[in-house]
Amino acid sequence: MNVYDSARMADVLAPHGFAPVDAPDDADMVILNTCHIREKAAEKVYSELGRIRQIRERRAADGRKTVIAVAGCVAQAEGEEMRARAPFVDIVLGPQTYHRLPEMVARAARAGGVVATDFPVEAKFDELPEASAPQGPSAFLTVQEGCDKFCTFCVVPYTRGAEFSRPAAQIVAEAKKLVAQGSAEITLLGQNVNAYRGPAPDGGTWGLARLIRALAEIRGLARIRYTTSHPRDMDEALIEAHADVPALMPFLHLPVQSGSDRILTAMNRGHGAADYRALVESLRRARPDLALSSDFIVGFPGETEADFAATLALVRDVGYAQAYSFKYSPRPGTPASLAEDQVPDAVKTERLHRLQAELWDQQRRFNESKVGSVMPVLLDKPGRRPGQLLGRSPWLQAVHLDAPAHDMGRIVEARIGAATVSSLAGRALVREDAAA
Ligand code: SF4
Repeated sequence: MNVYDSARMADVLAPHGFAPVDAPDDADMVILNTCHIREKAAEKVYSELGRIRQIRERRAADGRKTVIAVAGCVAQAEGEEMRARAPFVDIVLGPQTYHRLPEMVARAARAGGVVATDFPVEAKFDELPEASAPQGPSAFLTVQEGCDKFCTFCVVPYTRGAEFSRPAAQIVAEAKKLVAQGSAEITLLGQNVNAYRGPAPDGGTWGLARLIRALAEIRGLARIRYTTSHPRDMDEALIEAHADVPALMPFLHLPVQSGSDRILTAMNRGHGAADYRALVESLRRARPDLALSSDFIVGFPGETEADFAATLALVRDVGYAQAYSFKYSPRPGTPASLAEDQVPDAVKTERLHRLQAELWDQQRRFNESKVGSVMPVLLDKPGRRPGQLLGRSPWLQAVHLDAPAHDMGRIVEARIGAATVSSLAGRALVREDAAA
């Protein structure tokens, strides 16, 4: 989502004479677009700011000014504190205010530091100019922001605010533009994307499934994905869309976090392990080749060896094609950060190693199961060597293909010859124009 947001910030600044440069040394303005999810996010931002301050001083010696802005969730969480700790920062802006960036730049030039971390009443997306820069063969499109779930470990409801869904017509128009610019795949983004409930062109409300069906009608849009989903918002209509919308790719990121009911309750996830297993079963009935990924938090406060064993059991039962797993680390301001039964770091590390060994083994086996098969690959990046391109399988695997440069941006049929834990390799067979 931050990649998408950064592009929209570039869009909003373009009419004011700003264009992206390759290095901060050449920049009249540097925007750090921050994420609060990873450990020690704020400290990393302050240390990066130290480096940018040195660049500003070097440029000042040559008589050049540099505006420094910090955007995103760390800016939202730190607010005024950031200007107190790093007074050389000109603008601190939260994720809901970046449509006001040009006005902030002008205000900072006139009167010094600006802090904008409110949740404005006007809808950001209504104020933003149309996205202008092409994103390439695979594009992101934000359809939903914010979260009302309040998982006890997570800062998102505090930094991104309440759930908000963009109007469906706006999304369809933006998707058409992306396809006209050459995107064959669109990933719909939202902190809680399947909580999407957007105003529809007919005056009603569309859920994510209905939106996906409308997008699937766009000629040239070959692939649709969405992320990140919450198990509680996976409704029947969405499961059905997986059964009968061919453009909806057979890969789903469906975070479960833990396999223990006790820990899921402490996390305030609003579902149990059995609900998740049943959901996976329904999804696989609808789309038998569906591959899943998940997030896991190991060592959440109060996690016992039995709780952890329940997570391992769930992982073995479900079988993942990919996963992200982390040791629990407290986020300031969240309920779980105040829990007294924190798990010792050595225990978290040991459990994480056991979990990751299982997950990597599953990922390797999933990748190996594709060796010898023929699959469509969307080629979207140059390869590591001449004569090679990098693409994505329907299951979001990275695929290195021997293919001519003019296949870039196309979906080609490829035979898979080899697999590692992280990627597939093969050669292109028959060409199929993604736009056909
Ligand atoms: S549903 Fe996701 S974004 Fe919302 S609070 Fe939970 S982890 Fe955070």
